Amino acid sequence: MHDPNAALEAAIAGVSQAAAVCRHVQRSLDEVRSITKDDRSPVTVADFAAQAIIGRTLRDRLGPGVRLVGEEDAHALRQDDHAPHRRAVLDAVTRVWPEAGEDDVLDAIDVGNAEASGSFWTLDPVDGTKGFLRNQQYAIALAFIEDGRPVIGVMGCPNLPISFEAPLDVPDSTGCLYACIAGRGVTQHACERPQIPGTPVRRDDKAPGEPVSVCASVEKAHSNVSDTDRILDYLAAHGQPTREPTRLDSQAKYAVVARGQADAYLRLPTRKGYVERIWDHAAGSLIATEAGCVVSDITGQPLDFSQGMGLERNRGVICAPPSVHAKVIDAIRDLGIAAG
Ligand code: AMP
Ligand code: MG
Repeated sequence: MHDPNAALEAAIAGVSQAAAVCRHVQRSLDEVRSITKDDRSPVTVADFAAQAIIGRTLRDRLGPGVRLVGEEDAHALRQDDHAPHRRAVLDAVTRVWPEAGEDDVLDAIDVGNAEASGSFWTLDPVDGTKGFLRNQQYAIALAFIEDGRPVIGVMGCPNLPISFEAPLDVPDSTGCLYACIAGRGVTQHACERPQIPGTPVRRDDKAPGEPVSVCASVEKAHSNVSDTDRILDYLAAHGQPTREPTRLDSQAKYAVVARGQADAYLRLPTRKGYVERIWDHAAGSLIATEAGCVVSDITGQPLDFSQGMGLERNRGVICAPPSVHAKVIDAIRDLGIAAG
């Protein structure tokens, strides 16, 4: 393991700069669409640019031997017919890395081609693609895995309001960044000014009888909506009042539970055989754990990050403060959801 403080600093610097670049691409969505003539291109431009910045930052600060498992790789971008795309990525990257050339950017993206074994960083450069395209919630999520569990987590949520009172569906001009080392708690920072000391994020367990609010994906394909309703009905029938679910994209859901704006994040399998990706959960799950939440799969087992790029030994995810977590796991067991 690197010096954990130096590693955390490097991760924060990379995620914060990547967030600035994602914001820039977000502001010029229409322009990116017109260059690349493809509706999905804005997100891929942001994905590649964010991974390049973080790959470069980790390599420069922690040494060339740094191991990063990123969701993207530069293979497609290197092809001749991707020249306009490549230029759009370079244009985005040069906002924070002015001297970069195309080859520098492609090589920095490919820093993320390490194998997911042993100790390594894992990155989702733009988690919540659909949220990014709708200018709603998305996250830049980076974590360091050691012995099959995340031990450093940094997550930028450029559209998540700093104020806990502000509505979650209105993009924020500041955004939040969360940073933690396992066992030391988590802090919240302004997304692009992380050098200013952050505020600790800690949530209390839920008092008995208080209504429970859950959050889940916007995308119905990513979490089972009817099983969510069954769990809420079960809780209500067992004396636990509930509220209408909040829907938002990306690992920002972990942050929203960590800071007490929702009482559970439910990710219930929609189809047999889907294996959750490590980069969709590594940073967020550590952030929520450090704030006092419990994170497990739908059977209550801890998430196991020792199985390559997928959480092969887990199904779904439940994140909640301890008493709510226990009630949800009971509901899932009694309803037979884990067996399905
Ligand atoms: P969210 O924004 O929480 O809806 O999650 C976005 C992530 O869902 C993406 O990064 C995908 O890796 C992941 N995903 C894609 N298909 C599925 C699926 N069938 N079940 C659960 N997650 C999925
Ligand atoms: Mg993702």
